[in-house]
Amino acid sequence: MVYTKEYERKLIAEYARAQKTLVRKFSAPLSRHAAKEAIDSTLLLTAAMQTELILTEIQAEYLAGLYLESDLIAGKIPAYVGFDFSGASRVGINKLTRDTIGHIGKFNEELANELKLRYGTLVDNNELLTQLEKHGWTAHTENRMVKMGFDRGTINLVKHQTTTNKMLQILEQQGIRGNIPPNEVARQLIPYIKGIFGTEGVTIDNIGSVRKVLIVNADGKYKWVNKKVTRVFHTTANNYADIIARSTIIDANRLARHQTLQQSGFVKAYRSIAVMDERTGYHDAMMHGVIVKWGEGPPYHARCRCEYEPIWKKSTGLTNRPESFYDDKRDKFFWKQHQLKKYNATLPKGSKIPNANFLPRDMLKGMPGKEGMRAVRKEMLG
Ligand SMILES: [Zn+2]
Repeated sequence: MVYTKEYERKLIAEYARAQKTLVRKFSAPLSRHAAKEAIDSTLLLTAAMQTELILTEIQAEYLAGLYLESDLIAGKIPAYVGFDFSGASRVGINKLTRDTIGHIGKFNEELANELKLRYGTLVDNNELLTQLEKHGWTAHTENRMVKMGFDRGTINLVKHQTTTNKMLQILEQQGIRGNIPPNEVARQLIPYIKGIFGTEGVTIDNIGSVRKVLIVNADGKYKWVNKKVTRVFHTTANNYADIIARSTIIDANRLARHQTLQQSGFVKAYRSIAVMDERTGYHDAMMHGVIVKWGEGPPYHARCRCEYEPIWKKSTGLTNRPESFYDDKRDKFFWKQHQLKKYNATLPKGSKIPNANFLPRDMLKGMPGKEGMRAVRKEMLG
């Protein structure tokens, strides 16, 4: 940033004023308590005036600071960060919740169409529909439908439909707009998931359908490719609830942050940023620092913790980190993981170390140079 002469002058004047006040106060005999108070109040006053100066004189830097700060908080408390979602459009949030529980949402549309075609009588029954909208699926509605003479198939279709609608409601109202932490949102989703999949766990058979997968090479060149699903996805209701809650809330944070950044007009481009700890995957780590278009970057998978980081426009006067900063972080990560693999290969089964934090220090010495690290990355990415 550029400090203006005016700003500098004011800060020096402010410091001089604070100094004078202190000297004046300490020229008289003071009790220990009074002395402490004098120092505290002077410091407080200085900080307040400086903040005011910063607000008026270097607004850009201050705003950028807020973004960086929210990043910092997110890193420390991954569970949830208070974001203002008034900036996030309703359409965007709707799309997002539907994307997250995509296969259920899509399945539902088909169900809804089938219902409209085959069971006009149900749609005509206003009282039942109002009940469903208001309370979701209850034992009462089920009894009612049985009494009305609906067959088991139809009853199950309606149950499925209203249950997923209720899940969308929880995700949006509690998780996204209500700032309830993901584990609590997940807890609320569990009974509904069990309502759909039963108590034996969640099984989703998408074999043959296509999903997008990110591929990245050792030079940071990336592309999204279509991959056919070849296996049935099976997990517990608890884990599935966690995936849905966490992914939706992380995505909503990303969306709200992006909209705020776009509105600021400060951003030239974005980088993909990984958390870089023992849980980080090789692909996410390789994408660390890579410049990506919005929408082509994270999330790369369910519960992905990767983020977009803004590259500020030159006109803002804000400083961007050099390319080498990201390269260095990424290579240190790959070196650690490489050495962990190498070390574990020498240990017998059952006594392998769980992560690189347990490596003997010597193992991390002698990190190769640029070309050597490129080879290491290539080997690790396979
Ligand atoms: Zn990820």
